[in-house]
Amino acid sequence: MSRPQVALPFPPDEPAVPALQGLGALLPSSSGLVQYGAGARIFTEGDAGDCAYLIEEGYVEIVRGEGRRRLVVATLGPGEIFGEMAGIDGDRRSASALALHETVLMPISAAQLDDAIQSEHPLTQLLLRSLVRRLRQDAQRSREGERGADGRPVVDLSYSRVQARAGEYVRGLAELELAIKRQAFQLNYQPIVCLSDLSIRGFEALIRWPGANGSVRSPADFIPLAERSGMIVPLGEWVLRTGVAAWSRMRQHARLPEPFYVSVNVSPVQLATEERVEKLVRLIQSSEVDTAQLRLEVTEETLLSDPEQAQSALSRLRETGVKIMIDDFGTGYSSLSYLHQFPIDSLKIDRSFVNSVVGNAKGEQVVTAVVQLAHGLGMDVVAEGLENEEELGILKAKGCEYGQGYYFSKPLPLGGALQLLG
Ligand code: C2E
Ligand code: CA
Ligand code: CA
Repeated sequence: MSRPQVALPFPPDEPAVPALQGLGALLPSSSGLVQYGAGARIFTEGDAGDCAYLIEEGYVEIVRGEGRRRLVVATLGPGEIFGEMAGIDGDRRSASALALHETVLMPISAAQLDDAIQSEHPLTQLLLRSLVRRLRQDAQRSREGERGADGRPVVDLSYSRVQARAGEYVRGLAELELAIKRQAFQLNYQPIVCLSDLSIRGFEALIRWPGANGSVRSPADFIPLAERSGMIVPLGEWVLRTGVAAWSRMRQHARLPEPFYVSVNVSPVQLATEERVEKLVRLIQSSEVDTAQLRLEVTEETLLSDPEQAQSALSRLRETGVKIMIDDFGTGYSSLSYLHQFPIDSLKIDRSFVNSVVGNAKGEQVVTAVVQLAHGLGMDVVAEGLENEEELGILKAKGCEYGQGYYFSKPLPLGGALQLLG
């Protein structure tokens, strides 16, 4: 890209040209674009910074210092961003920006930048912030004529927060890795009951992380970290192996109906690549389970975040003979159009729907529709989170085949589950 190499002597006190000045017809305000005339000041060093800018047209000069100490640090053109440092750390502008020609800019608000940054990995956030911090220190040093190394912002609370979050992430990950290596997890088993005769027809394996002094960490605490870091892959393999071993123990221990299912939760991260799916397939094929009795619980998120990959992963897994169940049905996405496109055997109605049927005609109507939909597509239905007899009665009357919930039993360690079956 050819850039003008001119450094025009802008008077330091030149007023900024207001956005869209006299250009209403050219740039409708709904476009969000702002325009500056040649020579206009966009912002000034030391100003509070509330946005960054993307250059749509024209050229912008970034300048530090004034008078004899005036230094052009960059000349930027279309497609480039500036003013991002203040947008990222909320600190003051470290330089001034001036339009070299007629220039059209798209402002990106600090809130938009913040949204983008917050959705990043904690380590990426720390890297970004530490780079901005270094740039600021350089700017400070250049202002002070390379004199002091004490150019740090005195207190930078938001940077400390990013540091704290990244530290928390790294420590949490190390703890998780160690726990996986030491196999410090446990599985609990919650029975899944046939609603017509109340016999136990299987169980769902639910992970627990026992801590010090008899405390137990809930999966809601650590599964997101395991997913984000990829540790869910080895952890999920352990869950599958342990769940299948428990299924085998239960069958030796008690006379059980056929089929007697073992349900295992599978995270979308475990199905995200062909390689991971193949590894899972090998694990299933080499395990002692009768695959027709193994149910993999996947969420709607799995189906919709990458439908093509999900389609191929689930079809491949299903070739081994396992059954696929949609977990938390109804909580993910409202679109039903995808359901018939995937190889799905069962549907688990989320607890929030099950708990809203008693004395609530609309809640009941939703469950009726879900059961009809599932049956219409040839799937059976499990009602999750059944907590009382009224819910059980209604779900059973709706034709729901299976139920799971505290009404029957909380998730139990293997010993407790064996006792229940015995
Ligand atoms: P989920 O798969 O929807 O599991 C059902 C959750 O509801 C379990 O919580 C269970 O203890 C709880 N629950 C069961 N019946 C009732 C009831 O009647 N009332 C109430 N209030 N709750 C009930 P838990 O064990 O804390 O698991 C939470 C979530 O963690 C699971 O939701 C699942 O998404 C995830 N999770 C658990 N184990 C694993 C695992 O091995 N792998 C993966 N990827 N995720 C897991
Ligand atoms: Ca589940
Ligand atoms: Ca669920």
